[in-house]
This record gives sequence, structure tokens and C-alpha cells, in this order.
Amino acid sequence: MLVDSPVKNYDIVIIGGGMVGASFACALSKTLTPEISVLVVEAFQQSSVAENTQPSFDSRSTALSFGSSKILERIGVWESFSKQVTPIKEIHVSDRGRFGSTQMNREQHQTDALGYVFENRTLGSVLNAAMAASTSVNVLCPAEVKQIKPCQGGMKLEVHMEQGCYAVNATLVVLADGGRSSICSQLGIVSEVEHYQQCAIISNVAFENPHKHIAFERFTDSGPLAILPLENIAAENRGALVWTVNQCDVEELMSISDEVLLDKLQERFGNRLGRITRIGKRFSYPLSLSVAREQIRPGLVLLGNVAHTLHPAGGQGLNLALRDTESLVNILAEANQQGEQLGSMSVLQKYLDMQGRDQGRSIGFTHYLNRLFSSNNMSKVWLRKFGLLSIDLFPGLKQGFARQAMGLADK
Ligand SMILES: Cc1cc2nc3c(=O)[nH]c(=O)nc-3n(C[C@H](O)[C@H](O)[C@H](O)COP(=O)(O)OP(=O)(O)OC[C@H]3O[C@@H](n4cnc5c(N)ncnc54)[C@H](O)[C@@H]3O)c2cc1C
Repeated sequence: MLVDSPVKNYDIVIIGGGMVGASFACALSKTLTPEISVLVVEAFQQSSVAENTQPSFDSRSTALSFGSSKILERIGVWESFSKQVTPIKEIHVSDRGRFGSTQMNREQHQTDALGYVFENRTLGSVLNAAMAASTSVNVLCPAEVKQIKPCQGGMKLEVHMEQGCYAVNATLVVLADGGRSSICSQLGIVSEVEHYQQCAIISNVAFENPHKHIAFERFTDSGPLAILPLENIAAENRGALVWTVNQCDVEELMSISDEVLLDKLQERFGNRLGRITRIGKRFSYPLSLSVAREQIRPGLVLLGNVAHTLHPAGGQGLNLALRDTESLVNILAEANQQGEQLGSMSVLQKYLDMQGRDQGRSIGFTHYLNRLFSSNNMSKVWLRKFGLLSIDLFPGLKQGFARQAMGLADK
């Protein structure tokens, strides 16, 4: 439920109501007993789908894995959300200018879909509605946490709202404030960062041929280029473009006319969807891998981009964060049942032990996929040609690749 001001003490305070913080809040409201008090503090005003002012819920599109759709089902938001997603029935991976390519389809994996594509703002509106309807989750926004300090039995927070400033105590703070966390800086939590010297250009595109629910991932010498299927609007075939380019080219690519950009895009992507006829508003995001050196402290746990920001290759970031979210909620529920303190290191360490392998594998998958496929170095060209061929030739390898993409690698 939305509240106008906070009370003094909460069991759990979530800082950040973006895709990860809001999903975590919905999962808590489904799993934990109602005596556990939960507050979400979000800096941006919750907006309608049309306005989408909140950064997490902007006009980007995201590929949701099959495994993540099951998580959203378990937290009770899939039924309404599933009407707003586009199924991915086939994934086509290719290497620009070379031979190798591979396909994975839903029949090979006996599912309705390998994954789904959605526009971020649509998930935002579903999660915001679920939090507003929950009787156990309190949502405070617009409100910003400006100060945080460890104290006896948890954390002390200073929450700023237009009408004033509030002191709030929490047994456990779940930090989900995104990749540029001022709270981490305050607490002296450092991240290992590798700048890829690449940017992602994001936009919606229209094209001549129907996409037939195929997600295309094409590797080029500047990085992966994906076109993900979206629902048609007014009979126009649509897709979401995620185009990795070298940082030194981004300024030019963001400023040239649509016509010139479309020519360049067509040359990079090829003709699999026929002529690319239109491109919408463009956005660019600098890309880096960032992993926090500490994800837990007494009374504190990091979730989502603040814990690990990944390259978008292979669409893993949100999907990994949703798996983290589910593990953390289950561990907190168990701890609560056994009368353990929610913010104790022994409880939080169990979470890290459970998710460490998954995090390592997903970070490695995106990092090496991008590194291997963004190079003209002849040994890497040979390796990826061999890689794509062998993915096709060896069913086990293909199965492994597909299961990581589907968010089922651990299952
Ligand atoms: C180009 C691109 C494409 C991507 N594609 C995919 C994909 O296909 N599949 C996939 O799984 N992932 C993808 N990702 C990754 C995915 O977008 C991120 O994992 C996800 O957005 C992380 O969300 P978050 O909630 O952690 O952070 P954010 O979205 O940054 O949300 C943080 C929230 O915290 C709030 N906040 C910040 N500070 C405070 C404070 N002090 N007090 C209160 N509130 C605060 C902010 O207002 C914001 O709402 C992609 C990423 C990029 C850049």
C-alpha cells in the first residue's frame, strides 16, 4: 500500500523500487508472514505506463527468460503481466560476415516459449499495482534515502520527502538502488569495474517481414546486435533493438539521421527481417561489468545492478537478479520461521552461498560471450566459428547454452 510517511521501525527496508526492488517487495508479500513489516523507499514518483519517468521503467525492452516467467508466476504477477509480453519461440545466433550460426527453438525444449520480451514500463506498472494492492508492503515515494548508518540490531536511515525528513530503523536493509549507488559510496562498498569501451544503442525498429517470434542475436566486430520480437502495432512488424557499438562511434551514431542510421543498421544486421523501415527514439547506455566486492554486511544485502551490472549480451542482468531475489526471500522466510534475526550474517551468508555459483556463471557467460564475439582477432574469429558450429554439432553444448539463456542452468 502507498503510505504518506514512514513509521519508526521496520523489519525490512528496500531502498529502490525499480524492477529488482519492486519484484523483491512483491515476492516478500507473497512469502513472508504479514507480521514482518516491509517498507519500499523509491526516489521517483510512481508513474503510469504512458508517463514512465522512473529510470528502471523506461522505454527499454528486456528479454525475460522462461525461468524468470516462472518466478513472476510464483510472486503472483505473471497472470496480468503475461498479456503484455511477446513470446520468443526461436533464438537465432549468427556471426556477421562469417559462416557459423545456430538456432534453438521451443520444440527442442518442449516449452511454449524460450523466453519473453517486454517493454520495461509495462513490468513497472504491474509491479507498482501489486505493491499498491499489498497489505504487508508499504511504499513511500517520492522519497529518497540520503543517509545510512549501521546501528545496534540493524541500520539507521535518513529518509527525505518533500514534507520533511524521517529517521527510520531497519533490521535488514535490502539495497536495490541501481548501478550508481550513492549509498554504497557512503558505506565504502567498492565495486570491481571493467569498462567495455562500448555503448548500447536502444530503440524500437520496424521491418518488412514478420519476425515469427524469433530473437536474433548477431555478433559483429563491435559487439552483439540483437533484435527481439515485439507485438505488431497497426500491422507494422516491430522489434526491440539492442545494438552494441564502440564507444568512439556512439556520438556519431546518435546524431546522424534515421535514414543514414537505418542503412548502417541494415548493413550490420543483414536481411533476415527484410528491409528495416523505421527506427524510433534512440537511447544510449555505456556498458561495463561491475561487481560489488561485498554483497552482504550485518543488516545489509545488495540486490540487482548495485550487486552486479552485466553486459546486455545474452540478456542475463534482470534474470539473474530475479533468481537472487527468489533465493533471498526463501532464506529470509526460513530464518523467520526458525526465529533467527533477518539481518544476521549467518542468514545472509546462506543466501550468498546459494547464489554464488549462479552469479559467477551468469557474469562469466555475458562477459566472455561479449569478449569472444567482439573481436576481429583471427584466433577469436576461428574460435567463435568453431563455437557456433560446435553448439550446433554437440547437443549437450547447445542444451547448456539454451538453458543459460532460458534461466534454467541450475535446474
Ligand atoms: C541496454 C540494456 C539492455 C538490457 N537488457 C536486458 C535483458 O534483455 N534481460 C535482462 O535480464 N537484463 C537486461 N538488462 C539489465 C537490466 O536492465 C537490469 O538488470 C535492471 O534494470 C536492474 O534493475 P535495478 O532495479 O537493479 O536498478 P535500477 O533500474 O537502476 O533501479 C534502481 C531504483 O532505485 C531508485 N533509487 C536510487 N537511489 C535511491 C535512493 N537513495 N533512495 C530511494 N530510491 C533510490 C531509482 O529511482 C530506481 O528506481 C539490460 C540492461 C541494459 C543497460
